[in-house]
Amino acid sequence: MCSSDPPAALDAASRAFAGAWPATSATERGRTLIRVATGIRARAEEFAVLEARNAGKPIGDARWEVEAAAATFEYYGGAVNKYLGEVIPVSEPGLDVVLREPVGVCALIVPWNFPLLITSWKAAPALAAGNPIVIKPASLTPLTALLLGEVLVDAGLPPEAVSVIPGPGRTIGDLLTGDPRVAKISFTGETATGAQILRTSSDNIARVSLELGGKSASVVFADADWMRAADETVMAVFGNTGQDCCARSRILVQDSVYDDFVSRFADATRALTVGAPLDATTELGPMISAAQRRIAQDYVGIGVEAGAELVTGGEVPDACDPNGFFLTPAVLAGVDNSMRVAREEIFGPVASIIPFRDEADAIEIANDTPYGLSGSLWTRDLGRGIRVARAIRTGVLSVNSNRSVRTETPFGGYKHSGLGRELGPHAMDHYTEVKNVFFSAE
Ligand code: NAD
Repeated sequence: MCSSDPPAALDAASRAFAGAWPATSATERGRTLIRVATGIRARAEEFAVLEARNAGKPIGDARWEVEAAAATFEYYGGAVNKYLGEVIPVSEPGLDVVLREPVGVCALIVPWNFPLLITSWKAAPALAAGNPIVIKPASLTPLTALLLGEVLVDAGLPPEAVSVIPGPGRTIGDLLTGDPRVAKISFTGETATGAQILRTSSDNIARVSLELGGKSASVVFADADWMRAADETVMAVFGNTGQDCCARSRILVQDSVYDDFVSRFADATRALTVGAPLDATTELGPMISAAQRRIAQDYVGIGVEAGAELVTGGEVPDACDPNGFFLTPAVLAGVDNSMRVAREEIFGPVASIIPFRDEADAIEIANDTPYGLSGSLWTRDLGRGIRVARAIRTGVLSVNSNRSVRTETPFGGYKHSGLGRELGPHAMDHYTEVKNVFFSAE
């Protein structure tokens, strides 16, 4: 149901938890989720156009995200009856088994940058495990979550097990996270909001998982195919107009190839097409709001004032609709890791390129951040790849690639980037309680 009333949604979810959904067999729950995937695909273009309008993202990206959301429901639909318990060989005569049971009402709180996709990362494993869900989309981007609510109910989920509550974060969020009927909170958003949610939910001992901010590094060694790294890293920082928690917004480049890298990266940046979301040629759409664009522009100034060189970008493009919050992607070179542009999450199209000397220097700079979400490492030296991959403290790292997210693998952060992991089999652990049962044979 769509509701503007968190207590009513939580009443409905509590009834659903006492009702049929948690008791439905894992196989039947799985079939229902597969029908959700089919339902999303049947309305894929409607979802994609709505998401492009919702979040201002290029239609090509929106289509990819809609398919990825469908694939997430398909994955957990297929996984749920293979999520096995355990038999423990205890020393007493009898049989000891570990059961996985649904945790209870789950509040799923979602940001505005990937509205449908991040909702699916939370809703699919929560429902697969037998829980009722209450989805709170970001107030700027409620539309695709509301459409997903329709698809979930059409696929056969009990209406009381699914609520979508659009509205302001502070009021609706506090009502959800402070309510004792909520057993589990899954949040994606800013680190400061995550810390606030830990405080609000602490009296209720709610289970909390947090996917938070990032300031990820792409580390490019001189022995790598650094030209490929330069070309591919452009979208790894500017994709979604830089409004991506996984953005490689710090690009660490070994000093012997630094100048050539900066020049190639800047050329590739200038070649990006900034434009309207529904234009199929657009690579970067507008930013989400005037306020978010102002923040990004201010950071460009902060970087230049601290001594960085603005190589390109950071301007409002003349060719774009003045009603949109467009900004050309900005490249800052000569950045030192102590500057604010290298330390703070900008969440906009601003890349900081930082030189390093050797392996030890690269590891030290990469780890010198409060965050630890994502990152890349570019080298042709296998031994170095193993050493540096193990030394960087981050939840997700790709070697000679910029992909961070795969439906089948765990995703989440170290340090201030979060608690717990989404996606893959690991996500099921957040949405289940572990029960140990011993059957005496005496
Ligand atoms: P945000 O923290 O402002 O809001 C996220 C959600 O929380 C929204 O639905 C918002 O309405 C709600 N909210 C706000 N205050 C709340 C409160 N007190 N209690 C409960 N809910 C509240 O974040 P945002 O601006 O929407 O998203 C950008 C941030 O999200 C960035 O920091 C980004 O790095 C992070 N992010 C992280 C990941 C990840 O997987 N780690 C993915 C996407 C975005």
